[in-house]
Amino acid sequence: MTEPESRSSVYSEALEWYENNWDPNRSLGEWWKLLAESGWAFPSWPVGFGGQGLKGNEAKAAKQAQRDTEAYGPPNGVATFLVAPTLMHYGTPEQQRRYMPGIVSGQDAWCQLFSEPGSGSDMAGLATRAERDGDEWIITGQKVWSSGAQFAKYGILIARTDPHLPKHKGITYFLIDMQQEGVDVRPLREMTGDAVFNEVFLSEARVSEADRLGDLGEGWRVAMTTLSHERDPENPGMGDTDAFGQADLSLPVHEHASIEANKVDGFSLALSGGVTKILNEIIEETGKGDDPVIRQQLMGLLEMRRNSKWSGERVVASVKAGGQPGPEVSTLKLLGSEMGRQIRDIGLNALGSAGMLTGEQASHNELFYAYSMFTPAMSIAGGTDEVQKNIIGERVLGLPREPGEAQQRETNWSELPRS
Ligand SMILES: Cc1cc2nc3c(=O)[nH]c(=O)nc-3n(C[C@H](O)[C@H](O)[C@H](O)COP(=O)(O)OP(=O)(O)OC[C@H]3O[C@@H](n4cnc5c(N)ncnc54)[C@H](O)[C@@H]3O)c2cc1C
Repeated sequence: MTEPESRSSVYSEALEWYENNWDPNRSLGEWWKLLAESGWAFPSWPVGFGGQGLKGNEAKAAKQAQRDTEAYGPPNGVATFLVAPTLMHYGTPEQQRRYMPGIVSGQDAWCQLFSEPGSGSDMAGLATRAERDGDEWIITGQKVWSSGAQFAKYGILIARTDPHLPKHKGITYFLIDMQQEGVDVRPLREMTGDAVFNEVFLSEARVSEADRLGDLGEGWRVAMTTLSHERDPENPGMGDTDAFGQADLSLPVHEHASIEANKVDGFSLALSGGVTKILNEIIEETGKGDDPVIRQQLMGLLEMRRNSKWSGERVVASVKAGGQPGPEVSTLKLLGSEMGRQIRDIGLNALGSAGMLTGEQASHNELFYAYSMFTPAMSIAGGTDEVQKNIIGERVLGLPREPGEAQQRETNWSELPRS
């Protein structure tokens, strides 16, 4: 079967399913469950995990059928774009059976507990401790910048299980229940005006040994898998529905969708890629398409998109070779934050002083303003631009590592200097 034929047969099958089942009056929870059971929620994921095991173009065709019927998309967020791919790769069958259904049907929200006040870029330097107590681990420490933690039922957590090993080696990866005594979540207000981030204080919180993901001391490797998916803009778990809000599953989908459509949220806009449509509208409405500076900037954006497509092909090749995105994915992450800044600058140039307006007077329900305020975060979240450049230099181009890095990698964590 040739690619276009398979694409069209999958498209017809998916289209038929959506036409028969999509009903905006169903509750959100019911719709997401139905979508997950049908396998059209995440078409490229395995059967039983909300998917149908479809490959590239076939999965895209199924997604297109959803868009063409204007059916509401599957759940989106840390659970689907970070936890699911990591769990499918490293989870035991028991862990997958326990957690995947709640993820693919949007019933359980998750958060990512990696960054700490003293270790963001230097994530391997983390200080949160996990100490064994019978069949459980006792977790003590502090995490920060944990997006959506205030709504999360579970978290993916990395903690130090052996301080007397080099920093990359004494880390273990856990699945933690966020709704327990010992987990204190405190929201932080951002410059966007939203409070998506949180500080998370862990005071003798408990994790069962059965919720260790991957081997003891292998947490760094497991976390790198999670981060490679976070940096991959082609991640099939990254959808176009609200990623960080608290969804009321009992609401009819059309009510939920209308709340979402009126929400001013630069974070979700950046994740969904929906800003391109807004930028095009701004250029049309302001009539600035002929402005030489803006035309030049648009050409720059086009060039970045071409580079991104080229890099995307390399990433797809690396996924085929190793099963998971390789370090090449950092080129996409870097280009993504550069494109974000370029889109912001073009839009603000076109809007002129109107770009400074907030509230009702702002362009596009304040969405472009919110996006502009969010763009600096794109160069930080999931690893900063500088860190991506280091990864590209060292792991893709084979350049020498940073000075002192080799020695740091061999010294036990407990002997490393810390601020
Ligand atoms: C929107 C958003 C959402 C986030 N969500 C989460 C989340 O859900 N869970 C989570 O765990 N974390 C989250 N983060 C945190 C994010 O991963 C960290 O902010 C990031 O890794 C940088 O760490 P830091 O803030 O400690 O900065 P630092 O590591 O202190 O970096 C400060 C500056 O130093 C530079 N720098 C540091 N080391 C090097 C080096 N070796 N070479 C060159 N330059 C260097 C950095 O590039 C940066 O400019 C989020 C961040 C953002 C912005």
